[in-house]
Amino acid sequence: TVAIEARNVEFSFGTTPALRGASIAVDSGEILAVMGPSGSGKSTLLHCLAGILVPDSGEILFDGARIDSMTEAERSGLRRDRFGFVFQFGQLVPELTAVENVALPLLFSGVRRTEALRKAHGWFDRLGMDGMQQRRSGELSGGQAQRVAIARGLVAEPQVLFADEPTGALDSLTGEQVMDLLVAAAREQGTTVVLVTHEPRVAAYADREVIVRDGRVNAPDRIAS
Ligand code: ADP
Ligand code: ADP
Repeated sequence: TVAIEARNVEFSFGTTPALRGASIAVDSGEILAVMGPSGSGKSTLLHCLAGILVPDSGEILFDGARIDSMTEAERSGLRRDRFGFVFQFGQLVPELTAVENVALPLLFSGVRRTEALRKAHGWFDRLGMDGMQQRRSGELSGGQAQRVAIARGLVAEPQVLFADEPTGALDSLTGEQVMDLLVAAAREQGTTVVLVTHEPRVAAYADREVIVRDGRVNAPDRIAS
């Protein structure tokens, strides 16, 4: 079954077209890599699928429901309760400890603080960071911060995880550790993943890849051999 879908989506920033009839359907539990050149519309597509941006025309369907016609409050409820997010630079809250950062989505969803922190705590073993729960994000390496960001993206067991260049700021070995974690945890939870990346090595972790070019989605070109 399809988890999330864009149908013929168009979106412009002022007079700059970013999406020009983009269509993609992501199956439930599928890990999809969205590749393509810089400026081709990858982030805009992700933001439309996630209900952060509303298309000028076309449809976004989540679980069969049109989210493009929902109110901002309904879409923000979906982002809070059904979707998880990981961005290029972890975007951890620097004033909070690592474990508090992981707990944030649970707190926003109304889980009680002790329960949220208990659940968040449980992630650190698998992050390879047991004992680092109380560190502030400024005290973490880039790879550690990004692993914490992945735990935060998945802790509330979202139906869809949106990851925009999650390894973009990391060297390749650290990026692979981050992808190993992301893919293993998403598979275990059955989470659908929309992964924007320009790195073929990162896309190789996905079940399928598509290429965005000039605001449209294509299957990758394969050179016949
Ligand atoms: P990608 O993620 O593939 O690099 P984007 O979706 O970020 O591409 O951008 C698609 C197009 O929209 C580009 O031409 C980009 O310059 C433009 N764009 C993106 N964000 C904005 C913005 N906030 N304001 C104006 N133009 C933007
Ligand atoms: P880019 O892809 O251009 O580097 P980012 O992916 O880092 O940009 O973030 C783009 C936008 O997404 C920002 O405007 C930010 O406010 C918004 N955003 C990030 N996280 C969330 C969220 N959880 N819910 C709603 N909006 C978010």
